Amino acid sequence: MSEDPLNPLQQEVMDSLKIPDDWTPLPATVVTDVEAQLLEELADLSDWFTAEQPLRVSKHLLTTIHGCEAHHMAQRAEAFSWNINTVRGTMVHKAVELLLNWKSEQLPSHIVDAAITSVINNPRESASDFVASLSEPELAELRGAVVGSLTNFLECFPPLKPQWRPVVEHSARYAIHHDSIVFTARMDLVIGLPGRKVIIDLKTGRITATHRDDLRFYALLDTLRSRQPPRRLATYSLDAARLDTEDVSEGALQAAVRRTSHGVRAMAELVTKKREPLKRTGMQCKWCPLLDTCEEGAQFVRQLSGIDDDDL
Ligand code: SF4
Repeated sequence: MSEDPLNPLQQEVMDSLKIPDDWTPLPATVVTDVEAQLLEELADLSDWFTAEQPLRVSKHLLTTIHGCEAHHMAQRAEAFSWNINTVRGTMVHKAVELLLNWKSEQLPSHIVDAAITSVINNPRESASDFVASLSEPELAELRGAVVGSLTNFLECFPPLKPQWRPVVEHSARYAIHHDSIVFTARMDLVIGLPGRKVIIDLKTGRITATHRDDLRFYALLDTLRSRQPPRRLATYSLDAARLDTEDVSEGALQAAVRRTSHGVRAMAELVTKKREPLKRTGMQCKWCPLLDTCEEGAQFVRQLSGIDDDDL
């Protein structure tokens, strides 16, 4: 059976992801070099934590520690809770996962309904109770948003062929210092064979500068875990149908080691109460639980709203 031709947007994504004729893999020494660099940068933390009570490091924790440290610590102290916005991405990933093996007509509304049912009925899904508790209007709002994202994905992303070995929600784990510092990641979509993988972050919002840092962390983790660097990193905005790509280079992996080790050191110092957290204003101030008692953050939010302190 002949395949439908790709539309211009799908062709653009395909052209960005395919292996260039002149591509060569990075030398094998890159893996041992970046591993040695990471171990050396964190050598003095080797006995700060234990395998029983390790320091856990994820993409989200690295992002927040490099933002405002006080906000990072406040988030650590709070139990994570879902809301409609945070659960939307999870539902889109579940819908894409079902799409990979969907044999009948690919109707977004049918696939999203199956994704919602699957999450509600699976107690191992952390969003299960939250989605099950939604009122009918809330569920309709979530369903509409996820159908929109999945429709964009179907229209703008080339159909995922089984030969590309696509994996949704690909988990990776790597630990150092006798399992006392543990790095974990769950990558939205990975395609390609080992050594030439493309790691793709599917975004339901706009693409920001930190997304490249997020993906470089994934590339580092995948390199250390599989002992082969991936080939390319890509952030795909489902709303804007835009792809931002970066080739995995030795420089990108070294930059990931530096950012990761700086973040791990800051987390380790704060978790063990060796120093007080620093405050750094930024967009996170708008939803920070400390905003009511933080003068720097309150002033920043007033400036964002165009309110001059002299007006008060
Ligand atoms: S309000 Fe802003 S500066 Fe203050 S603690 Fe929160 S994130 Fe940091």
